[in-house]
Amino acid sequence: MFNLENITRKNILEMKPYSSARSEFKGQADVFLDANENPNETLLNRYPDPLQIQLKTEIAKLKEVSVNQIFLGNGSDEAIDLLYRAFCEPGLDNAYIFPPTYGMYTVSAAINNVQVVELSVDNDFQLPSFNSIKDSLDTAGLLFICSPNNPTGNVIDRKIIQEYANNFQGLIVVDEAYIDFSNEKSNISLLTDLPNLVVLQTFSKAWGLAGARLGMAFASKEIINTLNKIKPPYNVNTLSQKEALLALKNASETQLQIESIIEEREKLILQLSQLNNVVQIFPSEANFLLVEFKNAENVFKILIEKGIIVRNRTKQVNGCIRITIGTAQENALLLNTLKDIQG
Ligand SMILES: *Cc1c(COP(=O)(O)O)cnc(C)c1O
Repeated sequence: MFNLENITRKNILEMKPYSSARSEFKGQADVFLDANENPNETLLNRYPDPLQIQLKTEIAKLKEVSVNQIFLGNGSDEAIDLLYRAFCEPGLDNAYIFPPTYGMYTVSAAINNVQVVELSVDNDFQLPSFNSIKDSLDTAGLLFICSPNNPTGNVIDRKIIQEYANNFQGLIVVDEAYIDFSNEKSNISLLTDLPNLVVLQTFSKAWGLAGARLGMAFASKEIINTLNKIKPPYNVNTLSQKEALLALKNASETQLQIESIIEEREKLILQLSQLNNVVQIFPSEANFLLVEFKNAENVFKILIEKGIIVRNRTKQVNGCIRITIGTAQENALLLNTLKDIQG
C-alpha cells in the first residue's frame, strides 16, 4: 500500500517551513508595513502571493481539480527538483526513467545525489509491463513517465500508467509538457484514484510563455502541501502570474495556435517523407518531430551554417534530429534548405 509519509524524507516531515509576511497576513488591509517593501508604487513594489491563489483558481477551473491540488513553480524544472528534495533520500532512494527521455530527470537526480535506474522501452518507445520490471524497482523513489515523450513524441498508454501507479510504492511522475498537442486526454483525471500520481504540465510550450518560467504540478493535496512547504516563499514572480492569467483569459487564441501548429506538423511530415535522405519520421503527438536522416551529423552541421538550429539527438536515438514545429514560413525555409542538402 502506498503511504506518503513512508516516502517523505524525515527531515522534510519534521521541518518547520519559513513563514513569510504575506503568508502570515492574508486579509484585506490599507496599510502594509509588514514586509520591508518600498511603499512607493512601481507595480512591482509588493511581494507576490506566495501561493498564487488567483492564478490557481483559474487553472483549477480549466483542469477540473481543486486549488489545493495545484503546485506552481519556476518552470516544471522546479517541481522536478522539489519532488526529489521531498521524496528521495539522497544516496538511498532511486529515480527510474525510460530513455530516451527528458534530460532534467537525470540532472536533477545528480544534483540531489539520487541514483538513476534506466529501464528499457520497446522499438516503438512504449513502456514494458509493470511485471517485467518490478524486480528492478525499490519500494520508494520517483518513476518518471514522459507523455508525449521528449524527444520521441509518442504518448504512453493510460492503462500502463494506471498499472504502474497501482503497483509502485513510490511516486509516479507523468510529465505532460506536450499534452496540449496530443489527441490523448490528460492523466489529471486519474488523480482521484491514484494517491501516488503527480502530473506535470507547463506554460512553456503550448501556452507560449517559456520566458515566464511557470510550471504546474497536479497531485493529492498532501503531496502539494509538501511541495509548498519546501519551495522558496516567492517562487513565482508577479509578472509571470499576471501573464499567465492573461493567457488563460485568451485561451481561445492559444487553442487556435495549437491547431495551426498541429496542422503545420502534419504538413511537415508529408514534405519530409519525400526527401531521400530522410529514413523515418517517428509518429508525434507533440510540437516537434524526431527525424532519422541518412547523414544526421552532416544535416545538423549544414543547417547551423544556414542559421537554422535544430536539436541533435543522435546520441539519444541513432541518426536522429529533433525538429520543433515553427511558423509556416520557418518550416518552409527548413524544408528548402533540407532539399538543397540532399542535392
Ligand atoms: C520543455 C519541457 C518541460 C518544460 O519545463 P519548464 O521548466 O516548465 O520550461 C518539461 N518537461 C519536458 C519533457 C519538456 O520537454
